[in-house]
Amino acid sequence: MPIDFELSAEQKELQELARRFARDVMAPRAAAADRSGEFPEDVYREAWKLGLMNLNVATEYGGSGLGELDQCLITEELAAACGGMTTSISANCLALQPINIAGTSDQKERFLKPFCSDYHLASFALTEPGGGSDVAGMKTTIRREGDEYVVNGEKVFITNAPHASLYTLFATLDPALRHKGVTALVVPRNTPGITPGKDEDKMGHRASSTSSLTFENVRVPVANRLGAEGEGFKIAMNTLDSTRTPIGALATGIARAALDHAAKYSLQRTSFGKPIAEHQAIAIKLADMAQKVDAARLLVWRSAWLADQGKPVPLESSIAKCFASDIAMEVCNEAIQVFGGYGYMREYPVEKLLRDAKLTQIYEGSNEIQRLVIAKELLKRVA
Ligand SMILES: Cc1cc2nc3c(=O)[nH]c(=O)nc-3n(C[C@H](O)[C@H](O)[C@H](O)COP(=O)(O)OP(=O)(O)OC[C@H]3O[C@@H](n4cnc5c(N)ncnc54)[C@H](O)[C@@H]3O)c2cc1C
Repeated sequence: MPIDFELSAEQKELQELARRFARDVMAPRAAAADRSGEFPEDVYREAWKLGLMNLNVATEYGGSGLGELDQCLITEELAAACGGMTTSISANCLALQPINIAGTSDQKERFLKPFCSDYHLASFALTEPGGGSDVAGMKTTIRREGDEYVVNGEKVFITNAPHASLYTLFATLDPALRHKGVTALVVPRNTPGITPGKDEDKMGHRASSTSSLTFENVRVPVANRLGAEGEGFKIAMNTLDSTRTPIGALATGIARAALDHAAKYSLQRTSFGKPIAEHQAIAIKLADMAQKVDAARLLVWRSAWLADQGKPVPLESSIAKCFASDIAMEVCNEAIQVFGGYGYMREYPVEKLLRDAKLTQIYEGSNEIQRLVIAKELLKRVA
């Protein structure tokens, strides 16, 4: 298929739907939710009603069955209004993807369908207190007893954990087995022995909820296991391969918003008798910011397009996520500079964007880990 940057009529409609929702529902609430740290669940319910959640669930289970490029178009629009709300809205795609990847048709019927017939949140529970990057080093254990597994351990930094009705949990048969012991389970929230921790007080993405999850002798039916014992590491990595590109889109949305704010401000603010946009130092800053946003979007679209062709994208999704999140930090930083002292004030939108951008360099695989993946893939290709 030739390269074609034209979006289909359906994609333009989706983009417009997301843009309107972001502008009319999310943006007016973003600053207040950032300040208070409230969890604006009514916004998330509204997103669900409009079909802006669970984008990756197949139509046969009641979902919209959208492709990765469609997801990225929606995510960029939402993130331009509020990174935190977008993290909470898209956390369902992350949590449900292991079921898409490794679930049997019975498991998909049981676990995916309820998300499409009613509003629910799900969480992806992988990271542990001892380290998120070294996934194979996890300590949360599962022990088989008859038709059940008994889970003990703790997860941290889990998006939407206290509000979710379902967790996709990764735990190990034995920590000494490293990646070969990791096993994926679907765990309903109401299973006895699960305790979500307090909501973390975060630097950014404050409209999103993040907390620990403790599992104390939690009994999960073997029928809730995704794939075989020991396949959980592969399932987690395949999941992150497909959700990394939308994180690039999320970062691109934040950067785009910073550029828009800075460009508008530069036309209104005057110094030395003219709009600051007419000072070349500011115009050049804006031009550099625009190039970075464009490049990030193109890398995101390339990775999503390849994934939609069924191609594996470990390299391309890492490049897209890493580049987009790095430039989001640079562009937000420059936007603050364009705003001068006002940029440093909470009353203006750009300092929030910088705080929100920072997370995109850390979660779903830190950028150091992305660079390791990129180097490994690159070296494999030249060896
Ligand atoms: C707001 C928020 C929401 C999150 N949501 C979720 C969620 O829903 N589910 C979930 O499972 N997790 C979630 N996470 C966890 C996130 O994915 C981890 O924080 C991330 O993977 C990094 O793990 P860590 O914090 O343990 O850092 P560590 O792994 O301890 O790393 C610390 C630093 O060392 C670097 N480092 C580590 N190993 C290497 C190496 N081999 N080479 C070079 N550098 C290295 C890292 O890049 C980082 O800079 C969330 C985190 C945050 C902050």
